[in-house]
Amino acid sequence: MPCQRTPAASRVPRIQEYAVLLPAPPRTLLLNASLEPLCVVALSRAVTLVMSGKATVLESDGRLLHSERTALPLPVVLSLTRYVHVPVRRPLPPTRRTVLQRDDHRCAYCGSHADTVDHVHPRSRGGRHEWGNVVAACRRCNHRKADHLLHEIGWVLPWTPTAPRGVHAFLRGVAADEPAWSAYLAA
Ligand SMILES: [Zn+2]
Repeated sequence: MPCQRTPAASRVPRIQEYAVLLPAPPRTLLLNASLEPLCVVALSRAVTLVMSGKATVLESDGRLLHSERTALPLPVVLSLTRYVHVPVRRPLPPTRRTVLQRDDHRCAYCGSHADTVDHVHPRSRGGRHEWGNVVAACRRCNHRKADHLLHEIGWVLPWTPTAPRGVHAFLRGVAADEPAWSAYLAA
């Protein structure tokens, strides 16, 4: 599978052979041949896919990776040359990482940067750990809300939390760091 790690026996040049102009993007968005997003791969994996003819560079940031024999546009977005069938993925569980990604690291209560997860209906009062009951929250709001129900402290949730849908939603959280990815994740 293209999203898996490079086999040890790969015969294509290794990334160490390239003189990389730093800072290089640490990861590359990999699309299927149908241009659907598949996953994010490390730069070394991206180079391997291109050098072996399994992927082509759709977007580069303009820099070149140089080796003794060739130069390769530094890949920001790749597409596979042949379509791969991707089995239906199981829904992501709500974890701190996936909830913060879904909510773009924005506190649901005040909009500032969030790095904690709050159970809207507190677990201590019967709230469940499920997508519909978790939101990103800043530490201050999380501490102030504590074990209260929203109506008890006059707070309102501005939107209804739901499970993220598919790889688009999952990748959207990391796309903010790479503007070149956004066009491919907009669907
Ligand atoms: Zn807050």
